[in-house]
Amino acid sequence: MFIADEDTIKAGKVTDVYFERALQIIEAKDLDKNVKAEITVKGLPKGYEWAVFCGLEEVLELLEGKEISIRAIPEGSIFRENQPVIEIEGKYSEFAVYETAILGFLCQESGVATKAARVKKVAGEKTVLSFGARRMHPAVAPAIERAAYIGGCDGFSTVAAAEKLNMKPAGTMPHSLVLLVGDTLQAAKYFDEVVDPDVPRIVLIDTFGDEKFETIRVAEALGKKLAGVRLDTPSSRRGNMRKILEELRWELDLRGLKHVHLFVSGGLDENTVAEIVDVADGFGVGTSISSATTIDFSMDIVEIEGKPIAKKGKISGSKSFLRCDKCLKSEIVPFTTEGKQCDCGGVMEDLLEYKMRNGKIIVNSEDVKTIRNRCLRELRYV
Ligand SMILES: [Zn+2]
Repeated sequence: MFIADEDTIKAGKVTDVYFERALQIIEAKDLDKNVKAEITVKGLPKGYEWAVFCGLEEVLELLEGKEISIRAIPEGSIFRENQPVIEIEGKYSEFAVYETAILGFLCQESGVATKAARVKKVAGEKTVLSFGARRMHPAVAPAIERAAYIGGCDGFSTVAAAEKLNMKPAGTMPHSLVLLVGDTLQAAKYFDEVVDPDVPRIVLIDTFGDEKFETIRVAEALGKKLAGVRLDTPSSRRGNMRKILEELRWELDLRGLKHVHLFVSGGLDENTVAEIVDVADGFGVGTSISSATTIDFSMDIVEIEGKPIAKKGKISGSKSFLRCDKCLKSEIVPFTTEGKQCDCGGVMEDLLEYKMRNGKIIVNSEDVKTIRNRCLRELRYV
């Protein structure tokens, strides 16, 4: 398969060739120097005002053992344009060849986490599941699911990702099962008979018949056991999804089936979720999250041998990302170890903390749930 495995990435082979050539010259002409390089985004996609930082854990793993130190903001943090998320300090030759891979982790995973956060912010307490692994190369499915979860998805469907993160995958049933059985209610009964009782009984009700009549048939047969129904109706047959959901809710409630949740999937993003968020109970979101627009970070040298220097258009010098612990107001200032008082009464402290010193990772790997909780908390302020 066309995959660069972990060894290839760690060998610095997923790199743009100009870094290899630059390093040849640096060695031949004895130009290697101590530098500080920072990673920032100059412009967020689609007019976004904020983004979610994701991908640090893999960056640390990639650079472990190199003679460098790293300051970074925590994964799951909200950041904005021109706010440094990582600063790398050390001989340029120690990390130059990894720039491509470092940015690759951060750009894609932060993009996915940001889109997931935008959807979750609209969905609020309603369930959002990541269903989009099928849109991307399978080799990166675990990274995509992790980022989607960090951004606020309540779960994801990919089994390999769940195994890596020690979680349970989430899902319902495919149209293919209903087609093979030949009847929606019979498929629901087989599902209930065979599948682990811990798995919620959510039945796909739009394979053959009308959404309303299939839902009533399944709900009356399964009763309390039915957790929900899923609608994945193709747009050509969909009509007005909002009206369909309202009708289903009415018919279910009328029959004392208020506990049956309405789950929608297919072509959703933050805008389409917003249109039905008050009448649906959960959303399966695919392509818009898994193939989210990347956050286009860049890495720039900002200091050489202790002296501030940067290319034109880029602010030089090592910086601190001061942020208030209470209201999350932030400010970028020249590097300082001092905190400062925020107008709101909170304390502004540097969000960039040492995660690696001289090649040694000095922080414990964070649980993905902790990172997700950080993101959900910060989302309340944007
Ligand atoms: Zn404040």
